Amino acid sequence: MSPESHSAAEIPERLRQVKEEIVLAAEAAGRKPSTVELVAVTKTMPAAAVEDAIEAGQLIFGENRVQEAQAKWPALKALHANLELHLIGPLQTNKVREAVALFDVIETLDRPKLARALAEEMKRTGMRPRLFVQVNTGEEPQKAGIVPEETADFVALCRDTFGLVVDGLMCIPPFDEEPSMHFALLAKLAKELGLDELSMGMSGDFEKAIAFGATYVRVGTAIFGTRVLLD
Ligand SMILES: *Cc1c(COP(=O)(O)O)cnc(C)c1O
Repeated sequence: MSPESHSAAEIPERLRQVKEEIVLAAEAAGRKPSTVELVAVTKTMPAAAVEDAIEAGQLIFGENRVQEAQAKWPALKALHANLELHLIGPLQTNKVREAVALFDVIETLDRPKLARALAEEMKRTGMRPRLFVQVNTGEEPQKAGIVPEETADFVALCRDTFGLVVDGLMCIPPFDEEPSMHFALLAKLAKELGLDELSMGMSGDFEKAIAFGATYVRVGTAIFGTRVLLD
């Protein structure tokens, strides 16, 4: 364990603090706190840490890898009703079956091939995870997500060609840039497209994201401590 890793006793307290900061940020932005949901990001964290958060009342969680989530979440979901699991990392088409079976929200829809695979699997199984489109607001070549100028066409393709319902947009701003213009761009795109949900903001910038209209903030480190394993 790294010295920054939070002990079990700290998780409920950290969670409480983050929730309080969310309420304050929403109020400062003139928004109802209930319009902002916290996605507690548990990638690399053991099931015991997740249990601590669940016991403290947290129901919405995020994982960035299908395989890791598959090892952790079926047992947790069997034990606890009403959990909502979000996929916040890239989805390969060969993992679509597992992802549709496990996740309640898939935030990283970003290409036609994936839209087709999701549509086929959702039709085959009748399972209907909610879908957000990931936008590469910084147009970083190595990063997943559809570029901003292609977002409208892609959302239309998802809807008209594949019959998918897109509920919102998600972004991960460039690591080394001030995130505000990325949050503003995502909010503007969502508004133009009539999409209600905006997943943006992480431990370092969720208050700012709330000011720009985030309806889901994805927070890991501030709740669970520094990740020891690679993510
Ligand atoms: C890990 C991760 C987060 C959480 O990041 P923290 O800085 O630990 O809060 C949010 N979103 C995505 C897509 C992630 O992969």
